Amino acid sequence: MSEGGAPFGPEYGFGIYIHWPYCARICPYCDFNVYAAKDRDPSPLLDAICRDVAIHRPRLPEHGALDSVYLGGGTPSLLPPADIARLIQSASDSFGLKPGAEITLEANPNDVLRLDLHGLKAAGVNRLSIGLQSLDDSALAFLGRDHDSAAARIALSRAMDVFPNLSVDLIYARPGQTGEAWQAELQDVLAFGAPHISLYELTIEARTAFGKAVARGQWTPMDDDDQADLYELTQDVLASAGMPAYEVSNHAASADVRSRHNLTYWQGGDWIGVGPGAHGRLSVGGSRYASEAERQPAAYIANVQALASGWSDASKLYPLDAARELLAMGLRPAGGIDRRRIEALSGKPLAQDKIDVFVSEGWMTEAGPVIALTPSGRLLADALTAELSP
Ligand code: SF4
Repeated sequence: MSEGGAPFGPEYGFGIYIHWPYCARICPYCDFNVYAAKDRDPSPLLDAICRDVAIHRPRLPEHGALDSVYLGGGTPSLLPPADIARLIQSASDSFGLKPGAEITLEANPNDVLRLDLHGLKAAGVNRLSIGLQSLDDSALAFLGRDHDSAAARIALSRAMDVFPNLSVDLIYARPGQTGEAWQAELQDVLAFGAPHISLYELTIEARTAFGKAVARGQWTPMDDDDQADLYELTQDVLASAGMPAYEVSNHAASADVRSRHNLTYWQGGDWIGVGPGAHGRLSVGGSRYASEAERQPAAYIANVQALASGWSDASKLYPLDAARELLAMGLRPAGGIDRRRIEALSGKPLAQDKIDVFVSEGWMTEAGPVIALTPSGRLLADALTAELSP
């Protein structure tokens, strides 16, 4: 915590998350707030999001320019560059962008093949995050993706040419996936040279198509021990390739290509969430507020028009809840967190006896006031966080 600094707020990063909820089709594992795109006119939702951004400005008079804009979803790459430009411009008009601000667009491989990438760059995008998920055709079919491996490879090469600040998402711990096959797939992806890779274990959420299939006994997810083995293998392969984890699921070739936007989440910064179902965290007058926009696009649009805000709910977090959240998020990045920020909020010291055990087990490091998880501790991140939670 800087001298006299706050335990949270824009001094730890300030971004805006724009949720575009439509997808060409809904993947069977997806638990996000998404809807089939069909032939919808995007204009009413675009108008509402831009208005919602502008409405936030007078509510945040102390906030300066943005460190990041993140267009996620859903599939924002369904939008043409002119609409992407409009969304970025609305953020810039209301808050301004810091020099070198990170502007990320999530994109599906098929859209990368279809879109004018130079047009996207001209629109202001300077970082692309591609939902590759796999380079294996049978895995892509299992995951219900609408691209194949050949399309993914061409998309990756094309994107690298225009956006050197490129991130790739992969999903692993699929049923029956062997360590050997996963290692080969990782090497295959690494050969493309993307400087940022996010690696997520397949999780089964009850309300998804996968959740229902598993409940019917159609197939069985990978068990926890096998998942842990693949996680450790992942850490070894990526670290050997010069891309160590800088967060539980995220790897970067250098510090300058780490996701600034996601670091804002993990480090207790502020972000505005606009678009259906978007969450935000905002600091006003020394208090922390959690916002959640209406989930249904029509309700979101109506809310913006009628109430002058997309928020269905913006509640003040109790300091203890803010402290718990700060611990859970702050232990995710490799750099850890200054425990004094958590203690200032909870009003009590973290349990030193537990920290001592975690350090002696090799799960945690302690350097002055900064506590951080080691690679083996990150495997236990949820359990260790729960143990230490104030
Ligand atoms: S494309 Fe992405 S956001 Fe859309 S349904 Fe598939 S996983 Fe979910």
